[in-house]
Parts: sequence; structure tokens; C-alpha cells
Amino acid sequence: MNRIITSESAPDNDCDVFVIGGGPAGSTIATLLAKRGLDVVLAEKDTHPRFHIGESLLPMNLELFEQLGVLDQVREIGLRKPGVEFNSPVHDRPVTLKFSEAWDKTYTYAYQVRRAEFDKILFDHCVRSGARAMQECRVSQVKFPVEGGVSVMTCEADGDKQWQARYLVDASGRDTFLGNRFAIKRRNPQHATAALYGHFEAARRLPGDAEGNISLFWFEHGWFWFIPLRDGTTSVGAVCTPEYLRTRRSDPSVFLLQTIALCPELNARLQHARLLANATATGNYSYVSSQMSGERYLMVGDAYAFVDPVFSSGVYLAMRSAFLGADVVEASLREPAAAAQAKRRFENSVRHGLRNFSWFIYRMTRPAMRTLFMKPRNHLRIKEALMSLLAGDLYRNTPIYASLFAFKVLYYITSVMQAGASFRAWRAHRRTLRAT
Ligand SMILES: Cc1cc2nc3c(=O)[nH]c(=O)nc-3n(C[C@H](O)[C@H](O)[C@H](O)COP(=O)(O)OP(=O)(O)OC[C@H]3O[C@@H](n4cnc5c(N)ncnc54)[C@H](O)[C@@H]3O)c2cc1C
Repeated sequence: MNRIITSESAPDNDCDVFVIGGGPAGSTIATLLAKRGLDVVLAEKDTHPRFHIGESLLPMNLELFEQLGVLDQVREIGLRKPGVEFNSPVHDRPVTLKFSEAWDKTYTYAYQVRRAEFDKILFDHCVRSGARAMQECRVSQVKFPVEGGVSVMTCEADGDKQWQARYLVDASGRDTFLGNRFAIKRRNPQHATAALYGHFEAARRLPGDAEGNISLFWFEHGWFWFIPLRDGTTSVGAVCTPEYLRTRRSDPSVFLLQTIALCPELNARLQHARLLANATATGNYSYVSSQMSGERYLMVGDAYAFVDPVFSSGVYLAMRSAFLGADVVEASLREPAAAAQAKRRFENSVRHGLRNFSWFIYRMTRPAMRTLFMKPRNHLRIKEALMSLLAGDLYRNTPIYASLFAFKVLYYITSVMQAGASFRAWRAHRRTLRAT
């Protein structure tokens, strides 16, 4: 029989599960496991509220918020996002795709949030749910002794502390704590992008209900996001090739404004806007680890992999992997015979989400993809399936896959019809991969 230590009986430094990182993935899995009666300790190196990029959520996040019990709080800080506006330099008019056009219409909008507020809601919720969560507490070392369990070393203002846990969850985000420790983190061989972003006041928004839409603008070096937030601020970022970012000779703020000037449609929206603080530049961030779990640990969210922000899938996939991962941790501690199956399901499901988004992400700047997004048709329910994918509806048995397959066939046909432009884009992409 496995021993389950409850928070009342546990010695201070013992716990069932130790979670590294209090972002969306870490706070979610800590909440779920604490609610299931496990003694969970979470260490977050920062203090909430703290800045984090990644403000646009997906409709399927709402399902997870309901299950966690935080939907009302997220609604209070969020700006309703009913769809996505696409702007192309080679098409006359923008196109708006609405989540209400998805196959399954249960969740027809999402929210734009300030991550400082959003991450705090999730973190506070995990504390209310019974997790022992610490801030300004950095995990510096972990060991997996042969006799079992996990030993974790943390650094706090008042010194180092040693913890004994039965299971470790790495939710350290792009710090990829275990990925680095095991040297299993790899650059994504198929994708390389970098980002440059800042926050503006007085940006011109879309009118009426469309105010909360995310707008995407293709330009010669990649694409821009335009994310309106509830307090009137707008998050604007360029996702570009690492080569383009390396041409920067000025500070990030000046370079962001110079880059925006390359996109007249976005520039017009920011004509009377003002950059509120220094912009940030981030180098190539697309990576994956060669494994996501072991006998006494698993990785959730960005700690395992991150592809690209284009479809705003990061927070959703991070939280979804936490939901799936909670079953693995519980089975490993309470019902070891069921652990292998839970782990297979977890790994397959995490890969399923990443794979489905990645196919579109890798091709997002190709001319054929732009053509299909700018002239969306619903033959064979392709548009509904596409909107379901963009909503994150990949885990509810919505039967979108035959239509997504039809979309992919259409993409290849369109690429052949635009052979010259497709070839040039493919060659530029290969060059970028070689250079990075
Ligand atoms: C440029 C850019 C734009 C993006 N835009 C979007 C978007 O619009 N929508 C979207 O959904 N996603 C977006 N993302 C992705 C999104 O930000 C991430 O996918 C998401 O934050 C992942 O959540 P997480 O909990 O896995 O990691 P994080 O949110 O990064 O949380 C990890 C936490 O672990 C803590 N930590 C790290 N190491 C340690 C340690 N050793 N000890 C203790 N604590 C530690 C960190 O302080 C952090 O709080 C974007 C990403 C980038 C790079």
C-alpha cells in the first residue's frame, strides 16, 4: 500500500509531489493534485503578480477554467476575444474568422488577459486548493536517489532547504529545468523564430464586438500580433526570423518601431499610439525535449516543449498537459499498476496537441497558407474544422480530422499552383534553419 502523506501529517520538508514553477502549468497541476488529497509543494522563483508574455487565450481554456473553478475570476480581468483578424500585404481587405464558426459551438470566444493578473489567479487558487506554494523560492538542484523518491534543493532569502518528495513535476517553463539537467532539450529542427514585443497605449482597435479580437499581420520578415487588453493597453509583437533580429543595431524599442514601420496596416493602427515601456527581444525559442516523463517525474507545459505563439496555443497546451499529467502523478502514487497506461495517454495526448498545431505553425508564413486563410471556404467543413483547431478543440472528440486532412490537401494543391512563390518561401525557410 502506498503511503499518502496529508498536509496535516507531513513533516515540513516531506511531500508527495514537488512542483517546480508557478506559471499556468504548475499552478494547474498543483491545484488538481491538492484537490485529490495529495500533499503538494510548489516553488516559484518569482513573486506574483509578475510580468509574463502570452496574453491571448483560446476558447478551450474556458472549459479548463470551469473545471478548475476560476472562470468567474478570469472573466473579471479578461477582454472578450470572439475571433481572429488576419491582415495580408497582398490582399485588399482583412479577414475575420470567428470562433462561433467552429464545428462545436460550446465555447465561442476566449479572453485576452494580462498574464501578471491571470497567473496570480491560478497561483492563489492552488494555495486555496491546499497546495503549499512558495514564492521567491528557486529550485537549484534535484536528485533521484536509487532507493526511491526525489530530493529537491531550494534557495530562498533565508537560505537553502532540502525537500523529500515522492514525485517531481517540472513546470519551469522556458527555463526547462529538467531538460537542461538531463541535457535532453533540443532546438526544434523544423522551426526557428524570434520575437520583439512591447505594450502601447492609444492603439486604434477594431470597432464594436470585434474590439477584443486578436489581429495578425503578415509582413516580409514574419508576422505581428496585436492583442488588445481590458485596461486599454495593447500588446504588439513581431515574430520574425532570428536572422532578421540579428540585424538589430539599435535598442529593442527603436527596433520594434522600425519593424512596425515595415507593415503599413499595423503602422496605421499605431499612428497615435505610444510605447509604454522598453520593448523586449527574445531569441529563437522553438525547442522540444526528447522525453517528457520518467519513473518519478514528468514535465508539463513549456518545460517540455514550445513551438511558436502564432495561434496563442501556449497557455492552453500548458494547462491541458497539466490536466493530463495530474492523472499520471496520481496513478503513480496511488495505483502504480495503472501508471504505465496513464503515462502513455499523457504522452500521446501532449504530442497530439503539439503535432496538430505545429503543422499549421510551420507553414504559417508560406504564401499558400496565407491564401487559404485570406479566402476561407467551408467546402467539406474545412473552415469549421480550422476554427475548431484555432479554438484548441483537440481533446473533445469533435470529428474535425477528415476536414483538416482536406485542408492539408488543399494547401499542397495551392502550393503547386503558386509554385514560384512557394519555392522561394521554402528556400528562405531552409536558409533560416541552416543559419540557426
Ligand atoms: C513571444 C511569445 C509570445 C507568446 N504569446 C502567447 C499567447 O498570446 N498566448 C498563449 O497562450 N501563449 C503565448 N506564449 C506562450 C506562453 O507564454 C507559454 O506557453 C506559457 O506561459 C507556458 O506556461 P508554463 O506554465 O508552462 O510556463 P511559464 O508560464 O513560463 O511558467 C513557468 C514558471 O516557472 C518559474 N520557474 C522557472 N524556473 C524555476 C525554478 N528553478 N524554480 C522555481 N520556479 C521556476 C518561472 O518563474 C515561471 O513563473 C507566447 C510565448 C512567447 C515566447
